Amino acid sequence: MLKGKTALVTGSTSGIGLGLAKALAAQGANIVLNGFGDVEGPKAEVAALGVKVAYHGADMSKPAEIEDMLKFAAAQFGRVDILVNNAGIQHVARVENFSVERWDAIIAINLSSAFHATRLALPAMQKANWGRIINVASVHGLVASAEKSAYVTAKHGVVGLTKVTALENATTGVTCNAICPGWVLTPLVQKQVDAKAAAGGISNAEAIKHLLSEKEPSLQFTTPEELGALAVFFCSPAGNNVRGVAWNMDGGWAAQ
Ligand code: NAD
Repeated sequence: MLKGKTALVTGSTSGIGLGLAKALAAQGANIVLNGFGDVEGPKAEVAALGVKVAYHGADMSKPAEIEDMLKFAAAQFGRVDILVNNAGIQHVARVENFSVERWDAIIAINLSSAFHATRLALPAMQKANWGRIINVASVHGLVASAEKSAYVTAKHGVVGLTKVTALENATTGVTCNAICPGWVLTPLVQKQVDAKAAAGGISNAEAIKHLLSEKEPSLQFTTPEELGALAVFFCSPAGNNVRGVAWNMDGGWAAQ
């Protein structure tokens, strides 16, 4: 379905981003990966799906590096047809104790990076009259949790940016939508599980049980594969007139 299209997925060396990249690759899209850590493993996983894969190591907190990555993607594959703004980090502390440096980093990586990549990707999508911008927000783009001020602020901002981008392009073939996962067991969440296990002197399995039962009525993690299927839907012809939604896949979290 996406043969001949190119998807740039930020923060795709791990977790949800890698899952989304693989779901789009399975539909035939060529992929530009981005993110830190091991690069060769994720590249091989995507290439195994029979598509072309490139990598750019832009630090998503740096607008000039984001600009360089968009130029690189266009040089590699001609154009970015699908932009997935996924890179994100977490930090947990009460507002009065929240590190100013962590606040600035989360706003830059989880929110401003989506603005920069979007503004740079849009002109080519508008010219082609086809494009998909998928913002990985969070259930924390819809509701809040204590001790996550920067994250919740950034994710609510991402949902707002999604709506404005969708509206500004509503008469075109360019759509913008957000995905709002509940808990997904990635390295980002494993750190929170580890902190819970250490604080309570409990096992990993018990910490996971506590984490899920606090917020997620299904008591199940959402998987990167499930999120990937939603991203594929947004890219399908059935998604042509789906504009500005913030679709939660959260086991009922936001329904409470
Ligand atoms: P993860 O830690 O597994 O992956 C994060 C990715 O972002 C990695 O590839 C990392 O290298 C990259 N990254 C981090 N800082 C970067 C930077 N400055 N520049 C470029 N890349 C950078 O985390 P994840 O859980 O897969 O999270 C992906 C997205 O999903 C995030 O936006 C996160 O907020 C969101 N999300 C996660 C969950 C969850 O439960 N895991 C729930 C809702 C939303």
